[in-house]
Amino acid sequence: MIRIRDLSFKYQGDEGFALQNVDMDIAKGDFVGVIGASGAGKSTLIYAIGGVVPHHYTGDFYGSVCVKGQDTVETRPDELALTVGSVFQDIESQLTAMTVEDEVIFGLENYGTPRELVAQRLVQALEMTGIENLRHRALDTLSGGQKQKVAIAAILALQPEILVLDEPTGELDPRSSRQIFELLRKLNRDYGTTIVVVEQKIMLLSEFAGRLVVMEKGGVAYDGGVREVLGHS
Ligand code: ADP
Ligand code: ADP
Repeated sequence: MIRIRDLSFKYQGDEGFALQNVDMDIAKGDFVGVIGASGAGKSTLIYAIGGVVPHHYTGDFYGSVCVKGQDTVETRPDELALTVGSVFQDIESQLTAMTVEDEVIFGLENYGTPRELVAQRLVQALEMTGIENLRHRALDTLSGGQKQKVAIAAILALQPEILVLDEPTGELDPRSSRQIFELLRKLNRDYGTTIVVVEQKIMLLSEFAGRLVVMEKGGVAYDGGVREVLGHS
């Protein structure tokens, strides 16, 4: 599903490499947790899978990232976004509409989804993330955690085969964080959605992820079973 070969990336103007010689294969249906210290390259890895690197953030890019056989460098970002749904850490930059409903509908309409299906997907995405009650609210009246759920709902509505999420629970309390991971598990089990999630709450990863990637200084320090590293939960 995702094939990363000898990937190195240095942001334009940066001194050092954010990613260095990363090799990784992610199969359909994998549930991968990513941890590592600040600056280890976790966000850049998420960007690389979604094509944000090198299409949005340019720099020195070596190696290759293939998603469903398509080289991300040669694939248009909007085309890639149909396969890879990305939820970034900087939620504010991801939210563009005035209201919750408009935000969730935006992507669907952009891709020319028929009207009845838009309505259906909207309701379903709001239900899945538990924010039906926020449907008509203006985004600028929401808390950080609520915005995080809106960003997730907007991506879920597109039903991507691959979901990459960068600290999706960063603004959420323990209960909501758990609900998000239960939702990810449901998508993973019911639809075979491939999940790659950066998460600092190790207990969540030990419970929900099957595989763990530990990033260190732009490289992969560990990649294997969650239980081998974190023990049984
Ligand atoms: P993490 O998510 O693990 O904290 P990042 O991928 O954000 O790590 O960062 C890896 C390295 O790339 C850091 O040295 C960081 O300063 C640098 N970096 C990240 N984003 C940018 C950017 N937009 N422009 C320049 N350098 C960046
Ligand atoms: P749809 O055209 O609505 O996706 P399907 O028959 O493919 O219809 O799916 C049956 C149900 O499962 C629908 O409610 C659909 O929205 C949901 N579903 C299917 N695939 C996904 C997915 N990848 N993510 C979330 N929900 C999905």
